[in-house]
Amino acid sequence: MAKFIFVSGGVISSLGKGITSASIGRLLESRGLKVSLMKFDPYINVDPGTMNPYQHGEVYVTEDGAETDLDLGHYERFTHATPAKCNNITTGQIYNAVITKERHGDYLGKTIQVIPHITNEIKERIRKVAQVSGADVIIAEIGGTVGDIESLPFLEAARQFGLDAGRDNVLYVHVTLVPYIKCAEEIKTKPTQHSVGTLREIGIQPDILICRTEKPLSNDLKEKISLFCNVRKEAVIEARDVESIYQIPLVFKEQILDEIILSHFKLICKLSDLKDWEKTVVERALCPKNKVTIALVGKYITLQDAYKSIYESLVHAGIANDTKVEVIKIDPEDIEKEGTKKALKDVSGILVPGGFGYRGIEGKIKAIKFARENKIPFLGLCLGMQCAVLEFARNACGLKEANSTEFKPKTRQPVISLLAEQGGVKDLGGTMRLGAYPCVIKKNTLAHKAYGRILVQERHRHRYEFNNKYRKLLEKKGMVFSGVYQKKDLVEMVELKNHPYFIAVQFHPEFKSRPDCAHPLFREFIKAALNKK
Ligand code: GLN
Repeated sequence: MAKFIFVSGGVISSLGKGITSASIGRLLESRGLKVSLMKFDPYINVDPGTMNPYQHGEVYVTEDGAETDLDLGHYERFTHATPAKCNNITTGQIYNAVITKERHGDYLGKTIQVIPHITNEIKERIRKVAQVSGADVIIAEIGGTVGDIESLPFLEAARQFGLDAGRDNVLYVHVTLVPYIKCAEEIKTKPTQHSVGTLREIGIQPDILICRTEKPLSNDLKEKISLFCNVRKEAVIEARDVESIYQIPLVFKEQILDEIILSHFKLICKLSDLKDWEKTVVERALCPKNKVTIALVGKYITLQDAYKSIYESLVHAGIANDTKVEVIKIDPEDIEKEGTKKALKDVSGILVPGGFGYRGIEGKIKAIKFARENKIPFLGLCLGMQCAVLEFARNACGLKEANSTEFKPKTRQPVISLLAEQGGVKDLGGTMRLGAYPCVIKKNTLAHKAYGRILVQERHRHRYEFNNKYRKLLEKKGMVFSGVYQKKDLVEMVELKNHPYFIAVQFHPEFKSRPDCAHPLFREFIKAALNKK
């Protein structure tokens, strides 16, 4: 039977529950266990796919085409688990399912209530993940902060789970803040006491506390937290701020968190020291030999979470090239106002990420022109590829009015147009071209050199595509169509000859990069940027 770990958060949000969950996953994997990670999101949206990035941050896309919370990205980057649709559940999904069953008459005339119907539906989803994944341990992260109204049904389901599966098979981890008050020069445990108090009111006694802190937690403080929160002292784990998120599994390992979890579950597992992770990821992330500066030209640069997987992929590519990648975030609207020179003159590479809508497009196109003409390594992702094609069509092929029908539905030169399958689509939620599709790579291209293969699977999230009507003309002018989804003849990758590194892709390689195995397109991008420098 699988074991279950529930991870909740207290005091404030953004304490790193996702990275905590992912790191616990990594620790347990290192002991030979198979893990699967889940995220519960308390909002009423069915998924984050329709949300504004400022509301939600990045939408992470799984192999099977679910639009999910960005924490699933952490799970995938830290562990070998491959999350799927069922690994991210929201209040919206749960209510949707329960109401559909009610309308169908499945509840045989009963009054439908949060307890037990909503909580049963949540528990059923957890059991399903256990069954489908065949994992030894399911780690379920509960979004929000303890005390929120929205997350109560999920916490209640977690409480009931302990009753159903037995306390030996269920473990509760609470991530909390232990703030340092500067003027008093003191670390305060009261917020943690209160948040554990709130958890206990709803029937959950945490087994482990992960204490986020700026300063070291003294023995006395750990004892105090232990006493007031009714948690064994060795299970009060210090999680001090670190330079790289990839250090966290090591920080936990030092405090024998893996042993504490295994002994709770009465599991005996092989020993491990996480040395490979330390050597191949952490040491290289912390002490790089070189440095490059990359410009990311995107609309949502003020929100750190909006391009999460892209930033992480750049870190991975840095690790692979023994290089610190400094990212300069550039608003394309500033380029529209002030031109490219000021913003881009000192960068060794330019990246244009995905996105939706016309705002900022002309600035992105200008940045791409600058990269093309000045031979600056360029990587375009999804919308970034569409912009690269528009730039080339307008400035190298004489198609002055080239546009995407997303921005100008009646354009006379629709070089980017709606995917055929999107014709009748009315609903916005979950209806894009989503998830992994195979892409065949042309031999002797940049893409071929980077991947070292001719067949790859990459993940998608888009409605528009390159319009094949323009392929011949663009090809004649020097654009190489290096990757295609053959079944529907969709262009997936374009690149330029006579340029050190100019490649743009319709998919999102950032979802498949790992700290110990950088995505080839990012790895080669940073390599080219280093050479440029
Ligand atoms: N807006 C574009 C499309 O829908 C690009 C999407 C994206 O960058 N994810 O095709």
